Amino acid sequence: MTTATLSDLLALKLPSEECIAEYVWTDGFGKLRSKARALSSAPSAPSDLPHWNYDGSSTGQAPGENSEVILHPQAVYPDPFRGAPHILVMCDTYTPDGEPIPTNSRFECQRVMTKVAALEPWFGLEQEYFLMDPATGKPVGFPTKGEPEPQGPYYCGVSGGKMHGRDVADAHFKACLYAGIKISGINAEVAPGQWEFQIGPAVGMEEGDMLWMARYLLERIAELKGLDVNYDPKPVKGDWNGSGCHANFSTTPMREAGGYEAHIVPALEKLSAKHREHIAAYGAGNEERLTGHHETASIETFKWGVADRGASCRVGTDTVEKGYGYFEDRRPAGNCDPYIVTKMLVQTCCLDE
Ligand code: ADP
Ligand code: MN
Ligand code: MN
Ligand code: MN
Repeated sequence: MTTATLSDLLALKLPSEECIAEYVWTDGFGKLRSKARALSSAPSAPSDLPHWNYDGSSTGQAPGENSEVILHPQAVYPDPFRGAPHILVMCDTYTPDGEPIPTNSRFECQRVMTKVAALEPWFGLEQEYFLMDPATGKPVGFPTKGEPEPQGPYYCGVSGGKMHGRDVADAHFKACLYAGIKISGINAEVAPGQWEFQIGPAVGMEEGDMLWMARYLLERIAELKGLDVNYDPKPVKGDWNGSGCHANFSTTPMREAGGYEAHIVPALEKLSAKHREHIAAYGAGNEERLTGHHETASIETFKWGVADRGASCRVGTDTVEKGYGYFEDRRPAGNCDPYIVTKMLVQTCCLDE
């Protein structure tokens, strides 16, 4: 009889009724937190799960003397780390009196999505990120001294000497699919050590919930390799692309015949009038990314165009040719809050709020 190894213990089969639920939420700094609890049976809906609490004074969300924050389960996903029947639970955050706390952006998003449910808003967010090596403070693949070969070969690239972090990006792709997250694809990005994944098309609240949970999975997988994930709009100074989170958007009328002229163009005009409000809500530090260079439009002005990657909002040729489809808002930064971005798009384009 040998002693069990750590991997043996991690793979232990539990009695079938035991279910571990990892509760996930966003903290006061726009980062993710989680903690786990044992349940006596697997739930079939978020409403079957108990509320839980945590110490908000440790997460930038409550003063020390009244620090209890209550977690409300909102969406449940199969857990790719622990395997079936264990689950990941996306939660939002409330006071003990049941009021959403100030950093609970999901609550407002839910209010707005409920109003436009009949329009079936679809979203597809393209999350760009860098994998960072904490030992050097630089992206993976950057030498300790000096700079790597300039941008050019990395975007959708293949090469042993140039591509870094593919195992993390690909493990993440599969983990998302296992969890039932609507991930539509991944690609290597323009800078070395930079990758992208896309979540969508997802309907209404699904987009924010799934993008946050996909970020959680990515950070947990990077943790297995001792790497950090960086979503900042301009993490590496110099002639390197920053990270965006392009938001593709459509409603049922936009997806129907004639939707381009009748619904997409008017939506773009409305977005033009609210440029400043959107920029303010699209992520911190975005002015370093939206310079008018590196496939971006200047932060100062709004312009939309067909097939134009230097525009604030882009309509694909396919949509113009068919006369219906969707458009892409290229402004959101990699570190944006998807609950806020999806809410703002709906408010401006569909509600005139
Ligand atoms: P890009 O060409 O800008 O790199 P991607 O292929 O990376 O675009 O991402 C486009 C995203 O838009 C995908 O997640 C896709 O599922 C989503 N999408 C496709 N059709 C629609 C639509 N009608 N409405 C909203 N999102 C859509
Ligand atoms: Mn893309
Ligand atoms: Mn991209
Ligand atoms: Mn894009």
